[in-house]
Amino acid sequence: MLGPEDYHTIRQQIKRSENRLLFFDYDGTLMPIVKFPSLSIPNEDLIRILSALTSDKKNNVVIISGRDSVTLGKWLGSLNLTIVAEHGALIKYPGERWKELAEVTNEWKKDIISVMEQIAAKCEGSFIEEKRFSIAWHYRNAPYEAGNFHSRELIRSLTKLINGTPLQILDGNKIIEVRFNNINKGAIAKKIINEVNPDFILALGDDKTDEDMFHVLGKESVTIKIGAGDTAAGYSLSAQEEVSRFLKNIFLTDSNKI
Ligand SMILES: [Mg+2]
Repeated sequence: MLGPEDYHTIRQQIKRSENRLLFFDYDGTLMPIVKFPSLSIPNEDLIRILSALTSDKKNNVVIISGRDSVTLGKWLGSLNLTIVAEHGALIKYPGERWKELAEVTNEWKKDIISVMEQIAAKCEGSFIEEKRFSIAWHYRNAPYEAGNFHSRELIRSLTKLINGTPLQILDGNKIIEVRFNNINKGAIAKKIINEVNPDFILALGDDKTDEDMFHVLGKESVTIKIGAGDTAAGYSLSAQEEVSRFLKNIFLTDSNKI
């Protein structure tokens, strides 16, 4: 957990730094997990915080998400920040167009979708999301026990299916996702660090995909896991609701008040 001393230390580090790199996961970190992913539009408070952070030239703000690029672009594209979609398969630098960093092939999707469809038919409230470089089965709206049961069943079927392929299964927070194993938040974070060459790095995330990033960033960075559970992050915040207060507290004091 982050204590008052830690807040102080982090604020000092921020004050001393000239070129900061700030990685923020979106769902479950900047915004709460909601029933339908399409309803997680950034609220006013979040837009205010991001605008304040990006208005400081010392900050390089990166939204690093598993979401598709179209949605992220629609919601955040007008802000002066970098957006990473689909765990690093696509990137959009401030004011530029999306760039695809991964190769597009579609043949692999068919079998994955058909296995997911069988499970979705048995598990009420669950649904499939097809993205450009990954396919996800969401079960946040399914009854708790059925969701858990069918998610394990799906993992067993998928494990057989992807054996010997460059695909991997991601067992996330109410989501099972199949994607390429070389695309992950750690790899893209490394690339961005090389480009920015920062003297301070902060990263916030709530899910398994963020652990790839925490591992790459290591101990010199300020890494924060949102919520309970094992993590490679240096600190944790107990709930998503605390993120807004945390960011205001460490960045937007005195001169920068919003
Ligand atoms: Mg998340």
